[in-house]
Amino acid sequence: MSSKDNKLPDNKKNQAAVSFINSSISKLSGIGEKSLPLFNRLKINTVKDVIFSFPYRYEVIMPGNSDEKSVLTGTYEGSGIVRTHKGKSIFKAVFKSSNGFFSCLWVNFNANYPASLLHTGAVYYMYGPVTKFEGIPAIFHPEIINKDDIGHVRSVYTIPVSFSIVKYRKAVKEAFDYGLKEINETLPVYILDKYNFPDIKDAVKTLHYPETKANVESIINRTHPAYKRFIYDELFYLQLVMQLKRKTYTKGIGIKFNIDKEYLEEINKFMPFKLTKAQKKVLLDIFNDMVKNRQMNRLVQGDVGSGKTIIAFISAAVAVHNGYQVVILAPTEVLAEQHYNNAKKFFDNLNINTYLLTGSVTKKNKDIIKNMLSSGDINVIIGTHALIEEDVEFKNLGFIIADEQHRFGVHQRKILIDKGYHPDILLMTATPIPRTLAMTLYGDLDVSIIDEMPPGRIPCITKAYKASQLTKAFEFVEEILNDNKKAYFVYPLIDESDKLELKAATQSYEEVKKYFHNKKAGLLHGKMKADEKRQLLHDFKYGDIDILVSTTVIEVGVDVPEATVMLIENAERFGLSQLHQLRGRVGRNDMQSYCLLIASDKIGENGEKRIKAMLEYKDGFKLAEADLELRGQGDFFGTKQSGMPDLHFADIIKDIKIIQQAKNDAADILEDDNDLSSEKNQVLYNRLKEMYKDSTSYFGIG
Ligand code: ADP
Ligand code: MG
Repeated sequence: MSSKDNKLPDNKKNQAAVSFINSSISKLSGIGEKSLPLFNRLKINTVKDVIFSFPYRYEVIMPGNSDEKSVLTGTYEGSGIVRTHKGKSIFKAVFKSSNGFFSCLWVNFNANYPASLLHTGAVYYMYGPVTKFEGIPAIFHPEIINKDDIGHVRSVYTIPVSFSIVKYRKAVKEAFDYGLKEINETLPVYILDKYNFPDIKDAVKTLHYPETKANVESIINRTHPAYKRFIYDELFYLQLVMQLKRKTYTKGIGIKFNIDKEYLEEINKFMPFKLTKAQKKVLLDIFNDMVKNRQMNRLVQGDVGSGKTIIAFISAAVAVHNGYQVVILAPTEVLAEQHYNNAKKFFDNLNINTYLLTGSVTKKNKDIIKNMLSSGDINVIIGTHALIEEDVEFKNLGFIIADEQHRFGVHQRKILIDKGYHPDILLMTATPIPRTLAMTLYGDLDVSIIDEMPPGRIPCITKAYKASQLTKAFEFVEEILNDNKKAYFVYPLIDESDKLELKAATQSYEEVKKYFHNKKAGLLHGKMKADEKRQLLHDFKYGDIDILVSTTVIEVGVDVPEATVMLIENAERFGLSQLHQLRGRVGRNDMQSYCLLIASDKIGENGEKRIKAMLEYKDGFKLAEADLELRGQGDFFGTKQSGMPDLHFADIIKDIKIIQQAKNDAADILEDDNDLSSEKNQVLYNRLKEMYKDSTSYFGIG
C-alpha cells in the first residue's frame, strides 16, 4: 500500500481494497445479512453477480384487459371483510372506474395491510390477473403500481421466493448505477467490430433495461446483438481455452515411435479377424500421430461393438515394440478385468508381458507389480483410472489408452507430465455424442470415428412392451433360451427403498426364477464384491447361467457372445444413450439378437418418445442427437457428460453457427499470437487469468 492510501479514512480504505462490484451483495440497500444465504444459494454473492444475473423474462404492464395480467384503474370507495362459504375471511376493497366497479381482494391481510395503503377518493392502479368476484372484475393480491409504470418494460428475475421483486429491482438499479463503470470489456475491439456487437456495458444495460417492446422480443428470441454477444462470449472462451490446452499438449516434447511393417505382419498372424475399413482408417490416424515428434491426443469415437478394443491393442503392441510401457485404463474394475482377459490372450502371442492392477489386488501383489513396473519387467499394465494417481513409477511409460474420455483430463495429464512422462494418449468412447457437442467439447482433441460395424452383424431387433404385457415378453424370451442362447434382464435399481417404487432387481429376480424355473438365473448388482461379480460373469459367459438379472453395472463393455437377448424393465427410466449402450451388449456376433423394452403402462410423453427413438434408430450418433433434443442441454450435461461448463446463454443445438465462428476466430487469434501477449489481445489474456486463476499454466499462458 502506498503512503497515500494510508491517509485515507478507514471506511475509504476498505473501499479501495475491494472494488464495489466484487463486494458482497449486502452492500446494496435492501439486502441484509439475513437474506445473504438465500441469495448465495442462487449463486448471487457479489454485486457483480447481480449485474450479470439477467432477467429470465420481462413484462410490459398494459392497461385494460390485455394479457394474463392487466391494470385496473379506479377511485378507492371503501372496504370490508367478507366471508367465503368455507368460513375464510377476505379483505375486500372496492374501486370505481370509468367502466363501473371492480374489487381487489386480499386473503392475507392484517390490521395495517393493505388498509393503511388505501385512501378514500384517491386513484389507484391495480395490477394482476383479473378474475370475477361477486359478479364484478376483481384482482386477488394486486400489485399497487404507479401510473408511470404503465407501458414500461419491467424485468423479472430469479430471486429467493421470500424476497420482494420490487426491492430486488432497486438493488439491481443500484448495482447497475454504481457498478457498471467497473465492468471490463471481455472481447477485443476487432471482434466487436467484426460482428457489430455492442460493448459489454451497453449489452448489460440492454438486457436489464430493454426499454422497447421490440428489444424485448429480440432478446427473447435470442437475436438481439446484446444477447448474441453473450452467446458468442461464452462459446468463444470455451474454444479459446480448449485450443490453448491442445497447443500445450502438442508442444514439442513427445515420443517419436517407429512403425515397423514387419512387426505389423507379425501381429497380423494373430488377428482373429480382418479389420474393417473404418478400423484401418482410425489405426492409420493413430500411427500418423505416433510417428510424430509430439504428444498424441486422439479420441476414438465408435458405437458399441464397432471394434475399438482391437485398435487399442494393436497400437499398444506397437508402442511396446518400440521399447515403451503401456497403460490401459478402464472406467470400472469389471471392465479392467475383462480388458485384461482379452488383452492377455492377444499379447501373450506377441511375448508382451501384461498385468492387472486394481483395488482388489492384495497389498503384497501390488508391491510386486509396482516393482516390476519400475524395473520395466511389465510391458502393459491394465487398471482403473485410479492407477494414474497411485504412487506408481514406470521405467519407460510411452503410451496411455483410456476408456471414457471424461475421466481423463487435464489433471491426469499434469500428473503424468510432473512425473516426467510424455506418453501418447489414446482416448476411447463408446458414448457417441452429437457432432455439435463434440465440436464444443473436444476442441482440444483430435477425433477419429469408427463409422462402420464389423461384417456379418445382423441388426438387433428391438421390440417394445408395456409392463402389463410382461408375460408375453417372457414367452418370447423362453423360446430363444430354448435354442441354447442367453439373456440379460436389466432393472434400474437394486432395492425397493426408492420412492419411485421401481421394480427392483432383487424382487424381479425371484419372479424370473419362478417363471423360468427350468433355466438357471444369476443376480448381479453393484453392491456385490468384485470376486463375486467376476465368478458370476464367468458363469454367465462360460458356464451354465442362462439369464443374468442385473442392475446397470453391466452397462459398459461386457462382452458375452452367446447372449442374444437384452430385456430392459422400466425402460422409460433410462436415458437414450444408456438404452443404446445396453442394447449394444447383444448382437456381437452373427446370431440374431433382440432388445425388449418393457415400459410402465403409465409412461409419460417423453418416455414414449425415447422408446420410439430406440425402435427407429440403430446408430448411436443419431440417438445421441435425439437424446439431446428430447432432454435439452441442461439435463443432458447434468447426467453423463461432465466436463461441460454451465452455459447460461449458448445453446449447443441452436447456436451451431456461432460455435463454428467462435472456433475459427479462436484458431485465427492463436495462429497469430500464440500466447496472447500482443496489445490487442490483452483483453483475452486478462479475462482468462480472471476465469482460471492459477490453472492457466495448464494451457500455457501462465
Ligand atoms: P467396442 O467398440 O464396443 O469396444 P469391441 O472392440 O468389444 O467393441 O468389439 C465388439 C466385438 O466385435 C468383439 O467381439 C470383437 O472381437 C469383434 N470385432 C471387432 N472388430 C472386428 C472385425 N473387424 N471383424 C469381426 N469382428 C470384429
Ligand atoms: Mg508421438
